Amino acid sequence: MLSRILIANRGEIAVRIIRACKEMGVQTVAVFSEADKESAHVGMADEAICIGPPPASESYLNIANIIAAAEVADVDAIHPGYGFLAENSQFAEICASCNIDFIGPSPESMILLGDKERARKVAYSAGVNILAGNDEPLTDDADALSLAHKIGYPVIIKAAAGGGGRGMRVARNDPSLINGINIARAEAQAAFKDSSVYIEKYLEDARHIEIQLIADKHGNIVHLGERDCSLQRRHQKLVEESPSPAIGPELRAEMGNAAIAIAKASNYTNAGTAEFLVDQNGKFYFIEMNCRIQVEHPVTEMVTGIDIVLEQFRVANGRPLSFKQEDIQINGVAIECRINAEDPKNNFKPDPNRITKWYQPGGRGVRVDTHAYSGMVVSPYYDSLVAKLIVHRPTRAECIIAMKCALEEFDISGIKTTIPLYLEIFGHTRFIRGLINTTFIEDNFSR
Ligand code: ADP
Repeated sequence: MLSRILIANRGEIAVRIIRACKEMGVQTVAVFSEADKESAHVGMADEAICIGPPPASESYLNIANIIAAAEVADVDAIHPGYGFLAENSQFAEICASCNIDFIGPSPESMILLGDKERARKVAYSAGVNILAGNDEPLTDDADALSLAHKIGYPVIIKAAAGGGGRGMRVARNDPSLINGINIARAEAQAAFKDSSVYIEKYLEDARHIEIQLIADKHGNIVHLGERDCSLQRRHQKLVEESPSPAIGPELRAEMGNAAIAIAKASNYTNAGTAEFLVDQNGKFYFIEMNCRIQVEHPVTEMVTGIDIVLEQFRVANGRPLSFKQEDIQINGVAIECRINAEDPKNNFKPDPNRITKWYQPGGRGVRVDTHAYSGMVVSPYYDSLVAKLIVHRPTRAECIIAMKCALEEFDISGIKTTIPLYLEIFGHTRFIRGLINTTFIEDNFSR
């Protein structure tokens, strides 16, 4: 049984994992960069080790320093959280070779699903719909042009190693395709040290719907329903909800089975998320698999009552899942808002400053996952998420009202945040009626 673990992450997710460990009686070792000395996760863990200077490449992405910290602290396992090294199969392999459990899927599953182009093939072979696109990496412009003509514009150019909306470009004609490929390649090389890109049909007026999976090492795979993550800026999620106002029990079961088929085809274990785009007729297409816990996991926890992080530990300990598919029930509606230190009126420009006042909402069915506090400096080195506000109510209408109240109660000074934008969104009739798609924010709140 795992009794002492290292959390290779920072911010709210490190706090979230430490909380789960405390409940289980598992000792925790935090790691931190020189910029994060005052961070909440450092104070909460049983032990904390500095792993390097502020840039992530020298600290949270520094495999040698993290493994050295794990060996010095003598831990049984590493929980990678999300981002940073969470989907790095090489890191998972190094953990295994050092006799440290990696709390996540096996390196083999990660290799199979980590490359988005390869993941498309896995899904296709499992009988799941994918959008038309290329099967082999693009080699030259002529290739790309003939493929785009075959699929038909618009198309989207994506980095095979991509994540976080980077290295992605929509092209609606030949010149923008060639130009977009060059930009996407350069962005992908800079962000992921891998310039391979692929092309996929761009689906207009689509929703982003994802299925939460959890799989044990005994062949049991259960899905925990969907999250609707259609509210995005620049292809990055801002607001997530479960269940989706557009998905009924039949489509949920169909998408859940598709996600399970992909997990089976890749021998998947632990928590993971299969992401899909859904068109206006309810036809769905797999886009990628996230082989880790996700930022938006709390909405699923609120409606299913399942603690996904605890289940991750259960699976890592080799125990069978504590529930079966027929035990899963969706109760009420949960919505999450990502509170980012960004100026929504200035193209979401990050605003890393000192928080001078922090008063967070509370009450029945209100959850705030955060590492922030009054006096904390938001670091310019990492992403700008300062809190996740999650509200749970019996119906979507009640949830929207309660979320508005909670957003109004959230009193933050010293940094600009995305809260004013959310207040506008939650008052918009299309959002209230559940009529959203992935370009809803750009189409209605362009700034
Ligand atoms: P990342 O890994 O960078 O998050 P994803 O492949 O998950 O990238 O896509 C992120 C978002 O980009 C989707 O939620 C959607 O809004 C948009 N997107 C991706 N692929 C398509 C597509 N083929 N058609 C329309 N939108 C897409």
